[in-house]
Amino acid sequence: MTEFSPQAFRNQFPLLAKPQSTQPIVYFDNAATTQKPNCVIDEMTRFYQTTNANVHRASHQLSAMATTQFERARETAKHFINAHSEKEIIWTKGTTEAINIVAQCYAKPLFKAGDEIIVSYSEHHANIVPWQQVAAHCGAFIKVLPLDKTGRIDIAAIDAIITNKTKLVAVNLVSNVIGKRNPIEAIIDRAKAVNAKVLVDGAQAVAHEAIDVQKLGCDFFVFSAHKVYGPTGVGVLYGREALLEAMPPYQFGGEMIKKVSFSGTTFAQLPFKFETGTPNIAGVLGLAKALAFTGNNRQLMADYEQTLIDYTYERLVSISGVKLLFADKPDIPIFSFVLDNAHHQDVATFLNGQNIAIRAGHHCAMPLMEYLGESGCLRISLAPYNLTREVDTFIDAMRAFNHMSASSSTSLPADLSAISLESYVDRKGVEKQNALEEIQARFNSAKGWDGRHREIMLLSKQLERLSRDQRLDQYLVQGCESDVWLKAQVNQDGEWSFQADSDAKVIRGLLVIVFAMFNHQNAGYIESFDVEHHFKQLGLMEHLSPSRGNGVRAIVARIKDLAG
Ligand code: PMP
Repeated sequence: MTEFSPQAFRNQFPLLAKPQSTQPIVYFDNAATTQKPNCVIDEMTRFYQTTNANVHRASHQLSAMATTQFERARETAKHFINAHSEKEIIWTKGTTEAINIVAQCYAKPLFKAGDEIIVSYSEHHANIVPWQQVAAHCGAFIKVLPLDKTGRIDIAAIDAIITNKTKLVAVNLVSNVIGKRNPIEAIIDRAKAVNAKVLVDGAQAVAHEAIDVQKLGCDFFVFSAHKVYGPTGVGVLYGREALLEAMPPYQFGGEMIKKVSFSGTTFAQLPFKFETGTPNIAGVLGLAKALAFTGNNRQLMADYEQTLIDYTYERLVSISGVKLLFADKPDIPIFSFVLDNAHHQDVATFLNGQNIAIRAGHHCAMPLMEYLGESGCLRISLAPYNLTREVDTFIDAMRAFNHMSASSSTSLPADLSAISLESYVDRKGVEKQNALEEIQARFNSAKGWDGRHREIMLLSKQLERLSRDQRLDQYLVQGCESDVWLKAQVNQDGEWSFQADSDAKVIRGLLVIVFAMFNHQNAGYIESFDVEHHFKQLGLMEHLSPSRGNGVRAIVARIKDLAG
């Protein structure tokens, strides 16, 4: 490709090139994972079809071929980040595992009470929780770097935080929420001045900028293949050879040994010392293809990304009520924002109905949300296969959401007023069955997703809210993207009644349905009630998906648990 054509680039990604439905997906969740180009998919298929054998067991030709390709992939990764040696490239499951290896094998054996580990407020949980474990184990402290008004790590604050006791600074190069490049060179300089080591979380950066670990001078650099057009479940830990050499292995077993004997076992050299068991061979080959693909297209992709950033920024800030977490343009096409008077989950659910995939919630950065005083936010993240007309589709959908919210907050439709709150939530005896039937009838006559979504929004108005002081931690249901509080009571006849609340309208609407199923029923009924069957009939199965952040599933589980 000499001149970058977004459409030609997009055509290399089969999921996007051949839309599965008449309304093609607008995929704006690239910071979560990127789509995969044909060359990566083909490479992995090719391996299984022509070269599949285990590696480093070269007693036959196929294994020798697999091993050669596997080790060639290491060279590709070495060049991609300009490491000094292949020994410094450790295959991992991804960024998270790479950070855990450094935490467990570098920090834990070495750090002592009073030592300091520095992170920033914009870290992904993957770059916080492993350090908390180290700190708890050896009595070290975690110190947190604040952000400046642009959302970057505040370099002016670092001198007040870093000390001679600082042993490690572990920070992201680009945050998965803020999309701004941190002043990593200056941070590394300050760390070196006190002899602290530096780990750079490059998960969000590698798809967007060329990395040179030697020039950066960092001690560890970690990233995942799936954020850079490669497969999931594979990534890289780069570490300086001398540091890796001194570290004990992470896990123990096959592949990572030199000799095993009951009289004493010895471990393999780098990098194999850290690679226990049969590796993700096809994944590693896919990763190498993805890195070559990215390297080849780098500059053209970056130029087009800037066009996307400029275009999206202008259009996004023109929507009334949109507030970016940090007002100015990001460095990579990640935009995080809130919308006035709307819960992020409601917006994301609405957009999902228009086949627009964006992310809502805390984005695995709860401390950042707390720091910014937000319960969550919306994030769109674009890649060079995204088109400006997709940005237009998204902007139109956002305006439609605003329009819908404005009109639905003023009046309830006349037909709804005929059904009283009790009919769904509190009516007793035979009538309680009617509530579900009535809901079913309304959903049956609703047209498409839009109609069902409208019904959920209307139902949400039926839920009796909990007051602020009833929103106690003990009622919080774990596993919800938006906070949900659930209170339960059982009367003398063994009938349960539930009350709940959430800031997300969509969750409140779904709660009304759940309560129509369970309120004033006994434990046996609740236990045996087939929620999935009913949600299927209502056409709402996606709201029951086993996703970690699925509020409704968690609420149903809690209700069954309580009644059980
Ligand atoms: N760090 C950052 C900045 C990330 O964006 C992510 C993924 N969202 C991770 C770490 C964790 O990556 P993985 O889940 O691939 O291990």
